[in-house]
Amino acid sequence: SPRRSSAIVVGAGISGISAAKVLAENGIEDLVILEATDRIGGRIRKENFDGVCVELGAGWIAGVGGKEANPVWELAANLGLRTCFSDYSNARYNIYDRSGKIFPSGLAADSYKKAVESAMEKLRKLQANQAGELIEPTWCTPKTPIELAIDFILHDFEMAEVEPISTFVDFGEREFLVADERGYDYLLYKMAEEFLLTSEGKILDTRLKLNEVVREIQHSRNGVIVKTEDGRIYEANYVIVSASIGVLQSNLISFSPPLPRWKTEAIEKCAVMVYTKIFLKFPYKFWPCGPEKEFFIYAHERRGYYTFWQHMENAYPGSNTLVVTLTNGESKRVEAQSDEETMKEAMGVLRDMFGTDIPDATDILVPRWYTNRFQRGCYSDYPMISNNHEVQKIKAPVGRVFFTGEHTSERFSGYVHGAYLAGIETSRSVLEDIRLVKERETENQTFL
Ligand code: FAD
Repeated sequence: SPRRSSAIVVGAGISGISAAKVLAENGIEDLVILEATDRIGGRIRKENFDGVCVELGAGWIAGVGGKEANPVWELAANLGLRTCFSDYSNARYNIYDRSGKIFPSGLAADSYKKAVESAMEKLRKLQANQAGELIEPTWCTPKTPIELAIDFILHDFEMAEVEPISTFVDFGEREFLVADERGYDYLLYKMAEEFLLTSEGKILDTRLKLNEVVREIQHSRNGVIVKTEDGRIYEANYVIVSASIGVLQSNLISFSPPLPRWKTEAIEKCAVMVYTKIFLKFPYKFWPCGPEKEFFIYAHERRGYYTFWQHMENAYPGSNTLVVTLTNGESKRVEAQSDEETMKEAMGVLRDMFGTDIPDATDILVPRWYTNRFQRGCYSDYPMISNNHEVQKIKAPVGRVFFTGEHTSERFSGYVHGAYLAGIETSRSVLEDIRLVKERETENQTFL
């Protein structure tokens, strides 16, 4: 029979690592981390793209410059991680139509203002409806290419102006792109180093088990038995599951007994955002560079069709790399087709904007977060108006099974700092449970 440990952590993304670290720091050192892939980091993931380190997952530290310090920003600052300030405010003045003309700044500013007002009105009405006052929706739906483009950047690209996103309220409205050759995941490695045995950039600690895909979690009031895809069995007093909301919605991990209805229903209901950053490499630059040109927009009659572009000159000068962001339906469509097909579409869009004589891209990188069975999407997308009941249900433990991850963060779901703080919070709940169980045991002993 396998040796029983105090706790098993499923998943070695930032929430799993921060959860394990808190346990270890509080004396729970006999823990096991089971990670499905061959690396730590999860949705924080760099890749070498023709000599440049690009981030396929999280790229920004969002929420900087406010009253409170964003803990991830502090971790990054302590490590001297290289970052670049991202100024999105000029994106609206770089909107191209299909003939390559930039929309006049007055028109762009007006359309932007209208879209923001309309979104705020929508928010107020949703709030009023939630409060029981039924108000007919009157806001207009975006129709023209420029309206569609602005709608896309406001809603799919998370602009702080519209929604009272707690990240920006608490930590400030600035966002910094991580542009460090060591990668965003360097931060995670450094965190792991504080409690796991490492040497020369490698984690050697045998408590971290890579390539271990958890398929079944049996649980009772006395503990848990975790089974992996290749038949290994781990026993523990507690399990912390940090797999993404998309994975929880899939049938990758089965629970026995099954999770209660209130829990599975909340998991089912949670929308999952897909967000795809496509990287394109060119022999030379043909796009305008400079401080106000970093982000540019393509306005097309199909919403979200290669809309949001960024050049990487600020992050990596001389890299001749562009990034275009697709979301949801467009992401899924592109994940299902060949990269050659995607390159052709992207080149068509670039030739609309910059003319037919621009050079072909020499390389393309298309991350596939939705198809990935250990992710099934990019982050949870709770409704704009949320009373947090759904998050609380998704977060709530079921007996000895605890949950963590970005999707369990009440204030910062979707973000790296949300996942990081969720890991800490979940482990504290486990520690509290351990304390209560011990207390009850001593009470019983005294009674006997
Ligand atoms: P994960 O990192 O997903 O960790 C979970 C781990 O569990 C993974 O390593 C996975 O392999 C593993 N796992 C899954 N199933 C199993 C199983 N059955 N058995 C064992 N292991 C399993 N956030 C920001 O703050 N700023 C950004 O700019 C930003 N951009 C993003 C862009 C993209 C494309 C994506 C995908 C995400 C982005 N995010 C961003 C969100 C951020 O990356 C996440 O919120 C955060 O990294 C989630 O961490 P986590 O620990 O909750 O989950």
